Amino acid sequence: MIFPRKISLVVIPTYIWPLLILLVLFTTAAVSLFPPARLVSLYYGHPLKGVTVAIDPGHGGIDSGVHFESVILEKEIVLEMGLELRRLLEQAGARVMLTRDQDEDLSQYYLDDNLARHRRDVRGRVKLINASSADLLISLHINSIYDPSVRGPIAFYAGGKPESKRLARAIHNQINPLFSADAKPGQLVHQQPQESNAFYILNQTTMPGILLEIAFMTNPDDRRLLKNKSFRKKMVQKIFLGVVEYSYGQEANEKDLSE
Ligand SMILES: [Zn+2]
Repeated sequence: MIFPRKISLVVIPTYIWPLLILLVLFTTAAVSLFPPARLVSLYYGHPLKGVTVAIDPGHGGIDSGVHFESVILEKEIVLEMGLELRRLLEQAGARVMLTRDQDEDLSQYYLDDNLARHRRDVRGRVKLINASSADLLISLHINSIYDPSVRGPIAFYAGGKPESKRLARAIHNQINPLFSADAKPGQLVHQQPQESNAFYILNQTTMPGILLEIAFMTNPDDRRLLKNKSFRKKMVQKIFLGVVEYSYGQEANEKDLSE
């Protein structure tokens, strides 16, 4: 027995066309914002696959950095935060180079009898960072100043490096709200990215980079935050998000960061 072949005609109703066009436009926009390799990485939870980050926790060893009553030490806080930042970045697929993962200074990496220890230390860091061929650098420090009312984070970047400025803005975009949430009425807690050619490490490294002063050791409120482990963790999460924002090329928006 021969079954009659069933032929049917599918007619696309005219009202579907605008929807199809919208779908094509949306897909084009999505692919241009997130190139396919990145889309796949995002899908698998590795938004930073292919990115190498150098993290430089300042000081170490005999150099404590700034401290409060010899109890809160810059070198310890920045090391703990650097290790946590490495964990988050690696989880996101990035390759990470830490200049130090223990309590040591880095003068051993630059041997020159004519230079003082701290100069060899900073040169040792530059040597390690440049050898890592990292895509970006974050050097972690804690600030101090004679005026105890000054507080807040500052990301420094070297002049003539627009990508460093973009990185500084992306990081500030993320971390400033943490400080505004802690502000007393009328208290100024924000800082802005600042251009400076005073930092050897920023001048001599080859990739975009910032020196992030996390907060002021000399301010009682900042000190309270620095002593708080959950705040330190939140701060690291925000720095991480700043790196993701920077890596995806999303221009930190030009809104006033003091908001
Ligand atoms: Zn420092």
